[in-house]
Amino acid sequence: MFTFVKVEKCTLKKRVMFLENSVNRDTATGWIEVITGSMFSGKTEELIRRLKRARFAGQRIEVFKPDIDTRYASEQVVSHDTRVIESIPAAHSSTVMLLTQFPEVVGIDEAQFFDMGIIQVCSQLANRGVRVIVAGLDMDYKGEPFGPVPGLLAIAEYVTKVHAICVRCGNLAHYSHRKNNSNQLVLLGETESYEPLCRTCFNKLSEANRSLS
Ligand code: ZN
Repeated sequence: MFTFVKVEKCTLKKRVMFLENSVNRDTATGWIEVITGSMFSGKTEELIRRLKRARFAGQRIEVFKPDIDTRYASEQVVSHDTRVIESIPAAHSSTVMLLTQFPEVVGIDEAQFFDMGIIQVCSQLANRGVRVIVAGLDMDYKGEPFGPVPGLLAIAEYVTKVHAICVRCGNLAHYSHRKNNSNQLVLLGETESYEPLCRTCFNKLSEANRSLS
């Protein structure tokens, strides 16, 4: 957390200096953290880790996810490694604002499936003093910025980009390559539908697919 403190300069004029890791409790506010990356990069695991840590400290938490994402369970956020935390399915970003009780911490998973209004919702929550932790895919299967996530990255105080391992060469991966030919932007699926690829392997495959079509 950042804050401003007043320091004396040799000129005896008072100046304001920016320091990290100090808390001014009089001006404490909320903030936004975004955890992003490709599929199989551990975004949801990291979200759940942060939420459980906060809950262990006695902080109240709420977790929302888009109700489009029912891969594992409709009222839980479940990571690929089956870590679980209770969540509230929300059809629209406005539902989050309707349902929230403004606890200390709000988690939002699969943010890419929400409408663009989720950016404003996260901002409003943070302005009301909530620590907002958002996880979501930064790019779609074509390697293009995905829905509201780029906007969330822009307004967040803290961004964590996590990586998967390229299944073809072992380098760090940040693309979610779709293995079948569907053109639907939203295609929920697991290892049968997607694989994480590095830039080189993703480009090679995209070129090969273009020459086939
Ligand atoms: Zn690769």
